[in-house]
Amino acid sequence: MNAKKSRKEKSSKTKRLKHLWSLLHEFGLANIFYIMKDSVISLFKYKLIGSTVRLEASSLCQLRCQVCPLAQGKTGIVGRGYLRFSDFQNFVEQNPRIRNIELSNYGEIFLNPELKDIIMLAHSKKINLTALNGVNLNEVGDDILEALVKFRFKIIYVSIDGASKDTYRIYRSGGDFDAVLDNIKRINHYKHKYGRKFPRMVWQFVIFGHNEHELPAAKKMSKDLDMEFVVKLNWNESYSPVRDKDFVRREVGYATRDDYEQGHKRLYMPYCYQLWDSPQINWDGKLLGCCVNRRRDFGNVFDEGLESCLKSEKYTYTKKMLQGKVKPREDIPCFDCPYFQWIRSRKIIPVMGTLRRLNNVLKNS
Ligand code: SF4
Repeated sequence: MNAKKSRKEKSSKTKRLKHLWSLLHEFGLANIFYIMKDSVISLFKYKLIGSTVRLEASSLCQLRCQVCPLAQGKTGIVGRGYLRFSDFQNFVEQNPRIRNIELSNYGEIFLNPELKDIIMLAHSKKINLTALNGVNLNEVGDDILEALVKFRFKIIYVSIDGASKDTYRIYRSGGDFDAVLDNIKRINHYKHKYGRKFPRMVWQFVIFGHNEHELPAAKKMSKDLDMEFVVKLNWNESYSPVRDKDFVRREVGYATRDDYEQGHKRLYMPYCYQLWDSPQINWDGKLLGCCVNRRRDFGNVFDEGLESCLKSEKYTYTKKMLQGKVKPREDIPCFDCPYFQWIRSRKIIPVMGTLRRLNNVLKNS
């Protein structure tokens, strides 16, 4: 039994390594070298760990998801709008050390009418684009689907919380399950046509009480669509909480944040680390620091420059405040953030957090 188990583990490890190697090959070893070099420079220039920023492509969205603050009109300083191509161009020209840009946050990136130009420019400058926070993929032109493949968009998390139309619609109000699957199939068609592995496609399933029974079916569908499968716990536990915790634990290994933290020995969704390794910038240039913040900004990187905002007194103070080194201050966005008290009860070690996240990315590759 044990020999069989270890053979199985060995073969899945070999498979993972082969997969990682083929991704690295397509990603380009030179690309990896430049990312490492620019990461070292970024550490001195911006005090950033790595060479990544989060720059929201669009805070507009056509769906009305049940617990989305923007759908409820609580936009705060995020507002509604999209990243202009000219702002993106200036930003990448002024910050050539930034090699990875995460485009998704509150809205749907595909509602940005200038997205194709952004993707093409990023490709020509060897910048890796990702949508790890998630997209709904309901309405996307065929030229954009083709551009994602042709210009090597790196990874897309597609939010699909169900394995059937009726379940999907409960949370993703106004969404069209079939249209999402059709768009995934079109991306697969172009990947096949151009012989590409990118973008890596990931089925992201937020677990609710109303959809937990469809976890096994969704996993199977993701496999059929040549996608990876990840789950997220609902961030607002008052809405449709998990009903059968034992079943969910059997399916994904954990059913609550506490389960996750105890099992993995790390924080679930450590947003605060973003201040160190992938600061969030709003579509209009406001530096938000993390993807949660809708309260106060740290200046505007399009007007004042990224380096000056990241080295500002307020930003530096915030990092110390999160580590418990200085007293909470009212003008800091974290002051009245629900995560602040929670994060203070844990120990924040930014470098360790980043390394763990990197390890996670490699494990999931
Ligand atoms: S405490 Fe809140 S606002 Fe501050 S970095 Fe963490 S998640 Fe963001």
